[in-house]
Amino acid sequence: MTTLYEHGTLAALMAGNFDGTITVRDLLKHGSMGIGTFTGLDGEVLILDNEVYQAVASGKVNHITDMNATMPFASVHFPAEQQGITLTDVNFAKLNNDFVKAHKLNNVFAFLKLNGNFKHVKIRIAPKQEKPYPTLLDVAQHQPEFTADNISGTIIGYYAPEIFGTITAAGWHLHFISDDRQFAGHLLAFDASELTGSFEVFDNLEQHLPVENKEFRESTVDMSTLRDGIAKSEGNAD
Ligand SMILES: [Zn+2]
Repeated sequence: MTTLYEHGTLAALMAGNFDGTITVRDLLKHGSMGIGTFTGLDGEVLILDNEVYQAVASGKVNHITDMNATMPFASVHFPAEQQGITLTDVNFAKLNNDFVKAHKLNNVFAFLKLNGNFKHVKIRIAPKQEKPYPTLLDVAQHQPEFTADNISGTIIGYYAPEIFGTITAAGWHLHFISDDRQFAGHLLAFDASELTGSFEVFDNLEQHLPVENKEFRESTVDMSTLRDGIAKSEGNAD
């Protein structure tokens, strides 16, 4: 059995529930690899072998060691059944089409990790918000983007089937971090000649909800704009 653990939902973020509801300490009990964000939608998080990195809107990357820091949304897992892969001439279009078809991902959750030299990378970083919080879509439309050329780094993230595109982002949700840990963020576009890494498919989804959080319990989700809002906020450029 391979399990993807999700804390919180993107639907709750869309409704502006940005307060952290799980500590890093508790999150790491459910996975050693993953992605997420901190309280106030403060940056883009990558968890690599239990090391937590946060890219903030200035472009700086912090190595997080405060186990009491809290997150409103995160996806993590313990690597269990990884398959090694090498991909050539790879970009988002190729991942979205060829890779999904070749590995029959349409109806499953999967994890992907790719490392190597990137010809081009485009990322964005959510800026920290203060209360009263706006919606995720409002934040998504005003966030700094950064690009880098000829940079060595790692992509990690998850694939989610279209039918789950309300609790999380449908399709690929990937974050990038450079090998020197100085450049990171939510991946919008990339281009590489050859990347190696691993992927795995999950047969179990554990969806954890912040039931003690008052705002979460009292918030309402606008279903008519939810899917489109998530796609605009968390989707990739292709
Ligand atoms: Zn992201």
